[in-house]
Amino acid sequence: MPTLNLKEIFKRTARFSGFYKIKPEELNLPPDLGELKEPVEVGVQIEKVPRGYEVHLSIKGNIKLECSRCLTPFVKELESTEILRLEKYPEKLSVSLKAQDLNVFFLEDEENFNLADLVREQIILSLPTKPLCSADCQIPIPEEPQEDTRFGALKKLIQTKHSL
Ligand SMILES: [Zn+2]
Repeated sequence: MPTLNLKEIFKRTARFSGFYKIKPEELNLPPDLGELKEPVEVGVQIEKVPRGYEVHLSIKGNIKLECSRCLTPFVKELESTEILRLEKYPEKLSVSLKAQDLNVFFLEDEENFNLADLVREQIILSLPTKPLCSADCQIPIPEEPQEDTRFGALKKLIQTKHSL
């Protein structure tokens, strides 16, 4: 995955688009989040806007996750399209982020923009915190047997009667 020199690209054009297959080792996802087996297909369209760039990013691929309930591995389809903004690092450190700024990423180096970093972020954001193999995964993690309180009350009643 080559890095993009945005400064150079936008000297010549107002809009850049590209299609990439980014290999799992280039994305380097934290292993506890999931495992990519195949390259992720990434479509990108970049446009220059004041203070930075607007990026239309689409991601397609598969990721192997582990069900948080029954621990069965399963494959989840990755499919997302997002509009993001890349901005240069703010000069003042005390910049307050507004809600609408959540899709803003800061460009560390305009001449060395690594698309894989942005794709990795997006994949991580799209993953559920508690993945389930199916919406109705019912295999329970062994729990402490619970006594039904109604029977408990009844038992108590019987015991009281006996002791009378
Ligand atoms: Zn499950």
